[in-house]
Amino acid sequence: MIRDGRNVLVIAGPCSAESPMQLMHTAEELIKHVQPDVFRAGIWKARTRKGAFEGAGEIALQWLQEVKKQYGLQLATEVLTPKHVELCLRAEIDFLWIGARTVVNPFAVNEICQALNGTKVNVMVKNPVNPDVSLWAGAIERVQAARIQKIYAIHRGFSTFYKSPYRNMPLWEIPNELKRIFPHIPVLCDPSHICGKTQCIDQVMQHALDLEMDGFMIESHVNPLSAKSDKDQQLKPVELNTILQQLIYRRIDNQETKKLINLRNNIDAVDDQLLELLAKRMEIVHDIGDHKKKYGITILQSDRSRMLFNDRMEKGKDLHLNNDFIKDILRVIHNEAIRIQQEILNEQPTKRNKCN
Ligand code: PEP
Ligand code: MN
Repeated sequence: MIRDGRNVLVIAGPCSAESPMQLMHTAEELIKHVQPDVFRAGIWKARTRKGAFEGAGEIALQWLQEVKKQYGLQLATEVLTPKHVELCLRAEIDFLWIGARTVVNPFAVNEICQALNGTKVNVMVKNPVNPDVSLWAGAIERVQAARIQKIYAIHRGFSTFYKSPYRNMPLWEIPNELKRIFPHIPVLCDPSHICGKTQCIDQVMQHALDLEMDGFMIESHVNPLSAKSDKDQQLKPVELNTILQQLIYRRIDNQETKKLINLRNNIDAVDDQLLELLAKRMEIVHDIGDHKKKYGITILQSDRSRMLFNDRMEKGKDLHLNNDFIKDILRVIHNEAIRIQQEILNEQPTKRNKCN
């Protein structure tokens, strides 16, 4: 799909193939509103918890073939085993992707690559669920060694235990690093699995375009509310079209500008993480405050705070951070921790009500 002079690959379709009707109807709406380059649907679904919909299985390959016959769309699906690869090749699926849960396992990737070896199919490699660029790069190298001609990387975000506005944190510096490792491998963004809900998909897509990603894999379902998997993150085809129309497809001609934009985006990503970590730290401070109040312990234990300062100063030095800069930051953080604990230790129920 060419937009404002930029070539952007758009892969769209439901999270899972659920029935022939659902696939056909979704494809029809996508053709009408979006005209994607490729139609996606998961057939075998690796689910986190037992009891969730595990995909329609092999039969759905026939449903996908019908979609191709009817609408001329290229097809993409996920493969998790060599047997899946064999079945998909026989069904002439055009794009196969290796999912985030498979990429964490080099042994499984090897087995899949043996089945792919020397074939003409397009292969897409999702990032592993954990933020490990080497694991992602290692899977791509294995696909390269299987002599696959057209390889894509898909950035779908990284899972986290912490509270986050995302289902999977984008950690943009990781796909940026992957681009540095493989300058010729197109990177597509999967905003659906990053967001986990439809609300922030447009922002994530814009950010991906501004980082010069090469396209998108997006989940789109004719009736998201009835979807058997990932229903909160699937867009109706007409909604997807609205987002695609509103995106700004910036063209970057100037090398200097391009570099600056990349650097600034990296800074933004790091600042987001700093803020999340500060919030996490202050949450712990609250818990410590509650504990000290319960057991009547003083706020400031000078031994502990001396140890903390010395330790962080040493670590800062090892990381080549300026001494005074680290001292200033530690002081500000420490002061805020004391302020929060003071509030907790001195708070009277009535006073708190007054403040609120
Ligand atoms: C999917 O695209 O439906 C999927 C399961 O993706 P991931 O491997 O990124 O979780
Ligand atoms: Mn999904």
